[in-house]
Parts: sequence; C-alpha cells; structure tokens
Amino acid sequence: MYSVNPAVKFSYEMAKGSQKQRDLGLRILTDEVFNRSMASANEEYIYLKDYKKAIKDTLPEKKRLMVTGIRGVYEGARKFLYNKADEIVGQMLQVPKYSEIIRVEDVPTCIHEVVHFLDTLLNPKTTARATKMYKKKMYDDKKFKPLLENSLYHKEVFDTVQEKQEIIEHRKKQVEKFLEGKSVEDKIDIIQDLRFDMQTEYKAFSNERRIVNRMYDLGYEVYPQDLKNRAGEYMFKEKAEMLKNIGLDIISKERKNYAECIRQAKNNQP
Ligand SMILES: [Zn+2]
Repeated sequence: MYSVNPAVKFSYEMAKGSQKQRDLGLRILTDEVFNRSMASANEEYIYLKDYKKAIKDTLPEKKRLMVTGIRGVYEGARKFLYNKADEIVGQMLQVPKYSEIIRVEDVPTCIHEVVHFLDTLLNPKTTARATKMYKKKMYDDKKFKPLLENSLYHKEVFDTVQEKQEIIEHRKKQVEKFLEGKSVEDKIDIIQDLRFDMQTEYKAFSNERRIVNRMYDLGYEVYPQDLKNRAGEYMFKEKAEMLKNIGLDIISKERKNYAECIRQAKNNQP
C-alpha cells in the first residue's frame, strides 16, 4: 500500500468508522466552515482571509492547505500539491475571488471546494490509490481525461426514467471501452478512483445546495442555478452506482476464472 502524508489525511481516530459516519462528520465540519466564514460577512462579501481562517479554525488537526484565486471556465477547483519527489504533500483550493474579497454569491462554490478538501482528509485510501495511479502514470493515458470530463462530468438531459437508464447504459459502455485490455488490478483501481470522483461530487453539490438554501432564506444574493439540484443534473449518484456494478462484474468474472484454473490444475494431476 502506498503511504499517505499526514498533511493530507486525518488521523485514524478521525477517519475511522463507516462511510456513513464519515459523511456525517463531513457535513458537520462543512457547516462549521460556513458558519465561521459568514460570521464576519456583510451583505456583499467576505474577506478571503476570514474564509481561510474559518477552515483552519474548524480543522481538529493541522493540515496543509493553500488557497488561491481562479478565473475561467471552472467555478472552483481542489487539487493535490506535489513535492519535487512527486509525492502528495498538501491540497490547494482555487476559489472565485476578487483581490482579497469573495462575493457572497460565490461562497457556495467556496464551500463546495471545502467539501472536496475535507472528503479527501476523511478518505486516505483514495489518496493512497491516487498516489499509486500517479506513480504508474495511469493518469497520463490520453483517454483518461476525456472519459472523466466529457463523459462522467457531463450534465445530462433527460425527461423520463427510461431516458435516464439509457444515459447510464451509454456511460457504462464508454467506461468499459476505456477499460478494455487493461489488467484486472488496473481496472479495479480506475473504477474505484472514478467512483470516488462521482461520490465526492455528489457530496459537494448536495452540501453546497443545503448552504445555498440557507443563504437564500437569510436574504443573501445567490445564483439561481445554485438553487437547482445540480448533483441530479449530472447524475453523480447513479454514475457512482454504475461504476460500483462494473467493479463487481470484474471481480466476479475474475473469481470464475480462478475457480476454472483450480479445476483444471486438479484435473491435470496424475
Ligand atoms: Zn466539485
């Protein structure tokens, strides 16, 4: 197993427990960051330094985090920080900021990125896997990024349950095509990695939406699109489930192959 730097994971005490317990912890910490961030807000903005301090004061353990601004096609981002030896040593959040100020309508995006940051701290196994995939240059596969960005991070259009199923079938075929010819170990790692991406997006958008609704009720300016069920539009939950099923299929096929190997070995015995 690849080791994970303590600066990017919570201690065992914090990260133990079921996924459900960790997701509850995630929600509690997210709300605390939001409350602390808004404590010094006025009607229009908060200071970037107060957002950073809110995160720092919420964390029960000290972790490495860099916060920078972003302008462009993405609303925000969370990334790993690497050292010269290509090891993950921290995390970076990119948030919409103007000089040293974050507008209140951008606070939900800032909270969305905090969810990813905390979710990573709570799930060190996923960081260990990302380290392994990075070292094996699996992310360098030219088809990896398009699969993730154009197929899985795709806002889907559907009206009926039937159409939803068809979309999932289509996405499933795209993932299976990508996996073709890879080793079982690589296939499982890729599936688990993509599945975490879908799960963490689902959590980020759901937590963000809860915060947006609170802000709306409190009379703050919010973007109308942020009030929508965006996790649902991207079908993140359904895609995570679809990936899980692909993984189960791979494992059951592998078991059958292995059982067949044993059977043949026994038959070949004199
Ligand atoms: Zn996200």
